[in-house]
Amino acid sequence: MRLIGRNDLFLLLGLAVALFAIVSRPLGRVLAYAHNIDQSTGLQLLPGLVILAVVFMFHQMRKRHEVRAEALAAAAAGRQAAARAAEMERLIAFGQALARSLDYESIRAAVREYLATLGEGRGGWVLTRTAGQWQPLTPVDDAQAIEHERAARRALGESDARADSVSGDVCFPMIVAGTPVGVFCVSPEPALTDHKRTTLAAAAALLAVSLKNAELFQEIREKSVRDSLTGCFNRKHALEVMDGELRRSRRSQLPLALIMFDLDHFKAINDRYGHLCGDAVLSAVGQRMNMVLRGSDLKCRYGGEEFLILLPDTTLSGACRVAELLRRKLEAEPVRWGEVDVPVTASFGLTAVASGELDVLAIIGRADAALYRAKENGRNCVCPADEHEAMA
Ligand code: GH3
Ligand code: MG
Ligand code: MG
Repeated sequence: MRLIGRNDLFLLLGLAVALFAIVSRPLGRVLAYAHNIDQSTGLQLLPGLVILAVVFMFHQMRKRHEVRAEALAAAAAGRQAAARAAEMERLIAFGQALARSLDYESIRAAVREYLATLGEGRGGWVLTRTAGQWQPLTPVDDAQAIEHERAARRALGESDARADSVSGDVCFPMIVAGTPVGVFCVSPEPALTDHKRTTLAAAAALLAVSLKNAELFQEIREKSVRDSLTGCFNRKHALEVMDGELRRSRRSQLPLALIMFDLDHFKAINDRYGHLCGDAVLSAVGQRMNMVLRGSDLKCRYGGEEFLILLPDTTLSGACRVAELLRRKLEAEPVRWGEVDVPVTASFGLTAVASGELDVLAIIGRADAALYRAKENGRNCVCPADEHEAMA
């Protein structure tokens, strides 16, 4: 413990002055002179000087206190500014990571990387909602998933959730143009400052925009590769995918087959019932293809009422069975148009891909030739490419 602190300096100074006064003759003379002036003029110079000195001393002390308090406040403000700048940097880094993310997986990775730092170590979780379906963006077990969904619905003001079953996490709704896309929640401990809340709300807004972006991007990508009427891939995309499938088949040595089919007398359907009915028939054909074919089969609308199906890991006889199944399905289920059932049939040509074959157009050409023969054979039938076509 120090016996003499900084505040005792004035005391020391006073003692030094007193000592000086005791031992100093000149000072004695000055005081005597002042005393003489007091007596000759009738003034009280000496007490006045003492009062002035004391007041000056207190004034100095107060000024020092003020300066110290200001320095402390400035240091605290500096620390706060540094903390906010660091927080802002984290938010910017999160925003940049999101800006690089155009799909859910990269958004998930960005959230995984920045969630802990943004929440300053608080636990957190994110639920997204697309087309009314909740999806966790952060790892969650089944029990938590139910709890989180309740908390999320409550945060979005859609609470049919019981208050006592809702987790105490602080949730920030993620809303884009009035549409909720999810919630971003953090643990309430340690308590959140207003500034921290603002930062987390900003992070939630960034995440919301990023999720919406990813959704729209996926939608646009889907639209650019799919035919909206039938749900099949369009010709350009199908040719690209087929190219990849041919290379995969060459590497794996697994069989690959191609079916091409064309609706019979489709023009007559348009002419008789109108183009809207024709469109409804095309849409129904797309649905029926989905019912019969495997998810791994590549479905493509090649032209107006012509379709291609690429069947991975399928031999020619397997492709024949698939084509026959689809032919029967179309034949057996006319398309309902108003009060009438519109009969729909199709003719099928198919071919196997020879081992190591990579020429997409040549393979399509074979299936097309087989389809042409199916038409010649009276339509509504399946015709495999003959050996001559396959060798050509
Ligand atoms: P075939 O049995 O020989 O194949 O005869 P078809 O009438 O089916 O063949 P054709 O080539 O004469 O006619 C095809 C028709 O398909 C003509 C065209 O207007 C119609 N079409 C093409 N695309 C669409 C479409 O997107 N919607 C509708 N409604 N019709 C379409
Ligand atoms: Mg046709
Ligand atoms: Mg045609």
